[in-house]
Amino acid sequence: MEFCLREIEGEQAHDPIFIDKKMNSPPSSRCLYVPGPVIVGSGPSGLATAACLKAKGVPSVILERSNCIASLWQLKTYDRLRLHLPKKFCQLPLMAFPADVPTYPTKQQFVDYLEAYARRFDIEPRFGETVSEAEYDGALGFWRVRSVGPKGELMEYVCRWLVVATGENAETVTPEVEGMAEFGGEIKHTSSYKSGEEFTGKRVLVVGCGNSGMEVCLDLCNHNAKPSLVVRDTVYVLPQEMLGISTFELSMWLLKWLPLRLVDRLLLVMSRLMLGDTARFGLPRPELGPLELKNLSGKTPVLDVGTLAKIKSGDIKVRPSIKCLKRHAVEFVDGKTESFDAIILATGYKSNVPSWLKEKEMFSEKDGYPRRPFPDGWKGERGLYAVGFTKRGLVGTSMDATRIACDIQRCWNDEAKHRLPQ
Ligand SMILES: Cc1cc2nc3c(=O)[nH]c(=O)nc-3n(C[C@H](O)[C@H](O)[C@H](O)COP(=O)(O)OP(=O)(O)OC[C@H]3O[C@@H](n4cnc5c(N)ncnc54)[C@H](O)[C@@H]3O)c2cc1C
Repeated sequence: MEFCLREIEGEQAHDPIFIDKKMNSPPSSRCLYVPGPVIVGSGPSGLATAACLKAKGVPSVILERSNCIASLWQLKTYDRLRLHLPKKFCQLPLMAFPADVPTYPTKQQFVDYLEAYARRFDIEPRFGETVSEAEYDGALGFWRVRSVGPKGELMEYVCRWLVVATGENAETVTPEVEGMAEFGGEIKHTSSYKSGEEFTGKRVLVVGCGNSGMEVCLDLCNHNAKPSLVVRDTVYVLPQEMLGISTFELSMWLLKWLPLRLVDRLLLVMSRLMLGDTARFGLPRPELGPLELKNLSGKTPVLDVGTLAKIKSGDIKVRPSIKCLKRHAVEFVDGKTESFDAIILATGYKSNVPSWLKEKEMFSEKDGYPRRPFPDGWKGERGLYAVGFTKRGLVGTSMDATRIACDIQRCWNDEAKHRLPQ
């Protein structure tokens, strides 16, 4: 990659477009022309896209704000995390997980796999570069991508293709709750929770009952803390496996033969037999079936890894919405008040695309996702692409990355014909 940039830097001294851009750049910023795509983000989506492009002979440049690949996994996840889906649904294109990695790899095994993936495809992101702005320059027919380094260094990249790979989890969502300043105990988002060890013996309120909230509760239990779980909404809790097969795989298989609503009904019957009526334990189910709900709203069912048993045994208490916080206590909407030492917010993440991408057609300003629904959200206009915004985890990432690479390769090859001497 450095080669590709340096080479172009040399050429640019004689490139009128480059010189013009340089003059229009903010003062003291360096400007680089990138012949291939610029990819923003070096999580699994950015890596997969770079690898697919590389395999097709298209060089790319990845810009990453943190100092490592897969920063979400390396820096913002808890120690006990394993992939929720079997490894065959989480591998990136062109390289399988090693055979000796278990079906549900640990977070470290997943990170090791991604490191090996980056090495295999010789991917070297430019770390410490936060993309602050990207816009299409219609006069030139190029994207201008601006980044800021750790010491405030400004860079501008000029490219034909821009791939947005900043993810569905770019920024934490932290709700404002009345009385937060008075609480006095620790309040942290799951992105900075590592292990229940530091909470041993403490009363901890976990807010949010998605996969992370449920698993953090279990981890707290295993470290002899006293967790309570705020459940504000309806939620599906399904067993991670049914009949010895992962629930995800079974659903995918059934969907090949049966209509979605029937598959939903089968899943619910099976999970009722295996887990019982979750509403009895304070976890009421939504009206729509789990797959239908996922398709319509993107809301993922919780795959139970043991939390439900702890809820049934009373080791984890279920509580309603919070009304307000008081000094080391929480008042709930049912009027009851309880003392807590700490609060963990399992309140999720959001996309940050609207904060830096100056483009309003492809991405919604409201939620930072492509406006077109799956499977059509990956491609925009004028060389703009999105990878990893399908609400379908790594399966969606692989689909997007493969399509994007094919699409860019076509243009790349067409342009190469013109570049080559006749
Ligand atoms: C706790 C947890 C468990 C999960 N488990 C699974 C699972 O088992 N299976 C599954 O399929 N999915 C799972 N997911 C979903 C997960 O988000 C994806 O699997 C995967 O990490 C998405 O990859 P990504 O590259 O799209 O996004 P990310 O991994 O979030 O990577 C995006 C990268 O972009 C960088 N970035 C963001 N903004 C900028 C900017 N302005 N400039 C430069 N760089 C930027 C970030 O630093 C980050 O490195 C899980 C998510 C969480 C939070």
